[in-house]
Amino acid sequence: MDKLTIPGDSRLEETIRREVGHLPGQAFIFSGTGDRLAAARFLAAAIQCRGEERPCGSCGPCRKVLAGIHPDVMVVRDPDHKNLSMEVLRQVRQDAYVLPNEGEAKVYLFPDCGILEAKTQNVLLKVLEEGPAYAVFLFCAETAAQLLPTVRSRCVEWKVRGAEESGEADPRAAELCRLLEAGSVPALAAFFTGLETGKVKREELQAVLEDGRRLLTAALLYRSGCGGSPGPGSGLTRRQLNRGADILDEAVRQLRFNLNTGHVCGGVCAALARCIRL
Ligand SMILES: [Zn+2]
Repeated sequence: MDKLTIPGDSRLEETIRREVGHLPGQAFIFSGTGDRLAAARFLAAAIQCRGEERPCGSCGPCRKVLAGIHPDVMVVRDPDHKNLSMEVLRQVRQDAYVLPNEGEAKVYLFPDCGILEAKTQNVLLKVLEEGPAYAVFLFCAETAAQLLPTVRSRCVEWKVRGAEESGEADPRAAELCRLLEAGSVPALAAFFTGLETGKVKREELQAVLEDGRRLLTAALLYRSGCGGSPGPGSGLTRRQLNRGADILDEAVRQLRFNLNTGHVCGGVCAALARCIRL
């Protein structure tokens, strides 16, 4: 790996760049079918980066993370055992209380939670709960279910999409933008009621809202004369586009905090209805 990217998931790259200055937690699960390790490394570099756009990929800390030699980014492995031993986890726990060497943060990266047994996970509970603010834990897991519910509840989950899933925006996101353009509050309400009665899954709703935000941002760039082509939402005013993108962004964050999908749908719908009237 010679470049900092998350192959096939530029959306997550964008999310991390946007959120690295105010991360929604200290422990993260990277799950999903994409390149989870690349995603975790991307976040680790973003946390340590001293450049403008984090991760810049070219500053000292970024290059060290890429080369796997940053003293404050620990990849937790256990070459002597099939599964991570209790001893290794205890060392991690102890090390977390030692101040960082170079950076402002210490990052512990677990490349594969499949080798993290339940009893060893328990060792981490306390440090996840009340560890120092500079310690960040990144878990790569095929599914979040590989982690104990008690660990999971202390983590923010980020899905990494594989190449086959990315590409086109969710068609419902484009529909949402067109509804905003049409300016009909009842149609907007029907859209969200439809999602709710269709029992939309959390990650599905997250994708719709995230793609919606991307479309509104693209429309805003177009409206501001920064290139691109007219797409869904480009009939809205710049103020509406700005506000709309913020609303969707906030909703995506709420979903990560496990707020109930129905609750989020209701909140977004009400906020967007106000945005239409701007
Ligand atoms: Zn950098």
